[in-house]
Amino acid sequence: MNSYVVIRGVGELRLEKGPVQDIEAHEVLVRMSWVGICGSDVSLAFKGKLADYELEPPLGVGHEASGVVAKCGSGVKNLKAGDRVALEPGDPCGSCQFCRGGHYNTCETSCFHSSPVPNPGCLSRYYKHRADLCHKLPDTVSLEEGALIEPFAVAIHACRRSGVSMGTSVLICGAGPLGLLGLVAAKAMGASNILVTDIKPKRLEAAKRMGAHRTLLADGSEPRAFAQRVRQTMGCMPEVSLECSGVESALASTIYATRMCGVVMVMGLPAKDVTLPSSTLPSARSTSGACSDTST
Ligand SMILES: [Zn+2]
Ligand SMILES: [Zn+2]
Repeated sequence: MNSYVVIRGVGELRLEKGPVQDIEAHEVLVRMSWVGICGSDVSLAFKGKLADYELEPPLGVGHEASGVVAKCGSGVKNLKAGDRVALEPGDPCGSCQFCRGGHYNTCETSCFHSSPVPNPGCLSRYYKHRADLCHKLPDTVSLEEGALIEPFAVAIHACRRSGVSMGTSVLICGAGPLGLLGLVAAKAMGASNILVTDIKPKRLEAAKRMGAHRTLLADGSEPRAFAQRVRQTMGCMPEVSLECSGVESALASTIYATRMCGVVMVMGLPAKDVTLPSSTLPSARSTSGACSDTST
């Protein structure tokens, strides 16, 4: 018997039971070990929406996951029962222009893991998935760490897209899980002047422990004034800003703070459409977004 968490309505989460699904030749059945709760899960469960997507219950929960292979389909060659794996979310078609161009994370027909029942999300006892999207973990990576690989892939993708490399100055707005993973990725790529901002001192302490060079408490000041404080604290205008909070004023602050020819990377999804300082944007700053990634 399988059990899984289902969103039945706004604020209505239930643990339900159902049969374990049969697997096809190219699939594996994974006994789930760890599942991260993403901000998107929380938003769907308690606000009933995620950006412009409106909740259509019933909906499964969870897409940041690791587990142990319980059963393999007859055609699976890359895995065997007992293998520890991290799951890559989605089910890309493999034939559209995005998939064929190598950007299968943007496949329009891909079904994300939080799906209508009876296809539960990863927050379940068993989950069936394509074997080619289950990645075997090395012995040095725990199952708990394995569940962080999906959001970490997003952070690496964001840093790569924004050109973080040796000596890059980086502003990170928001010290939640995505911001902290962005910090780890930026440090690994050689960024040498990283400032992390947040409204919560405790989160800034975590950022310090994880290697932020500087931290700055966001005090609700007007975006231009806050951008000025960023510049003073860093001793320069950052070349790259990772916006991980999804807050309108923070996004405006990053645009004001980032230097000419710099990059503002939007990683946090705002809850609704926001107004940007569009007169500042054309000053050769480029704004881009990163919400998912291909296997990294
Ligand atoms: Zn997520
Ligand atoms: Zn596709």
